[in-house]
Amino acid sequence: MTRRFDGTQLVIASHNAGKVREIAELLAPWGIEGVAAATLGLPEPEETGATFPANAELKAHAAAVAGMPALADDSGLAVAALDGAPGIYSARWAGPDRNFARAMADVHERLGAHARTAAFIAALALAWPDGHVEAFEGRIEGRLVWPPRGSRGFGYDPIFAPDGHDETFGEMDPTARARVNHRARAFEKLAAACFP
Ligand code: IMP
Repeated sequence: MTRRFDGTQLVIASHNAGKVREIAELLAPWGIEGVAAATLGLPEPEETGATFPANAELKAHAAAVAGMPALADDSGLAVAALDGAPGIYSARWAGPDRNFARAMADVHERLGAHARTAAFIAALALAWPDGHVEAFEGRIEGRLVWPPRGSRGFGYDPIFAPDGHDETFGEMDPTARARVNHRARAFEKLAAACFP
């Protein structure tokens, strides 16, 4: 049976400032305070899973050891013509120095003249200290643009324009973006299942 979360505080098991901000904003209307893993000094586990939900669960379990339930995200850009790449390797394509200008150029070059259809996918996992976990997935379809546009987002935002919009996620108002994106869609499912 789906377990419900009835606390007022949980750990946001991410070391990515962009994600921490978005997740904290999603939790706020529910009266839940998100405490970033980094402020608790929690280490970042190795992402050894083969899927978005597997990696989200692994990160959530690792952070729930602090004694509080923990919410983790694993997400990335899936390009149809690249068989879903970079996918779970989205962060790794940017290298240890997190160079997303290079990662975006890499996507663009590999794509060449192929169709520019892509999606952002997010899995959210909520884990409890006793090992129970609930996971949900959300996605948003769109297309890739070149050159990159906008500096209001993070990661691959400047090359992704969601269906129905001309603006890229990099150009869009961050609050509006965070209400409609893949994380928000996964969060809607999580909230419907786990929040009273
Ligand atoms: P991970 O989930 O920490 O392994 O990293 C996911 C990576 O995918 C991030 O570092 C970003 O590069 C990319 N990504 C995930 N969600 C978004 C988003 O909303 N906008 C832009 N890039 C994203």
